[in-house]
Amino acid sequence: MIEIIETNSPEETDAIGRKLASQAEPGQVFTLIGDLGVGKTVFTQGFASGLNIDEPICSPTFTIVQVYDSGRLPFYHFDVYRIGDVEEMDEIGYEDYVYGDGVSLIEWANLIEEILPDHYTRITIEKDLEKGFDYRKITIEQI
Ligand code: ADP
Ligand code: MG
Repeated sequence: MIEIIETNSPEETDAIGRKLASQAEPGQVFTLIGDLGVGKTVFTQGFASGLNIDEPICSPTFTIVQVYDSGRLPFYHFDVYRIGDVEEMDEIGYEDYVYGDGVSLIEWANLIEEILPDHYTRITIEKDLEKGFDYRKITIEQI
C-alpha cells in the first residue's frame, strides 16, 4: 500500500507526522528518508507531538539514538547518518529498541537496510522545486 501526501508548509508536514504517530502502535517501526533540509526534523517534531511528547526533538546524529519516555509510548528516535558499519548498531542496543514495545523512527534507514525488520512503515520526503520552494511530497509505504 502506498499513500502520497503533498504539503506546502512546515506546519502541514508537522501535522502529517502528528497524525501518523497518534495512530502508532507498540513495536511499530517507521523509517524516514530524505535529503538534508527536506523536512525530516519538522516531520519528527510533529511525530513526537503525536505521541504526546512535549519536549523539543534534537537530532541524535552523534549518539545515534535518543529515547523519550514522557509520551503515550516510549519513542526511540534514531539518526544513523554517521554510522560506519551496521555492527555499531548492536553496540547501542538497536534490537532491544526496534523489537521492543516503543515506537521507533529511524532517519537515514537506507544506510542500515540489511538490519531493518521484515515489516515497517517507510516514509520518504522529497522536494520538487518546480512546484515551489515549500512543496514536499511525502510517500508512505507499508513494507
Ligand atoms: P532535515 O531534518 O531533513 O535536514 P529540517 O526539518 O531541519 O530538514 O528542515 C526543513 C526546512 O524546510 C525547514 O527550514 C522548514 O521550515 C522548511 N520547509 C519549507 N517547506 C516545508 C514543508 N512543506 N515541509 C517541511 N519543511 C518545510
Ligand atoms: Mg534533521
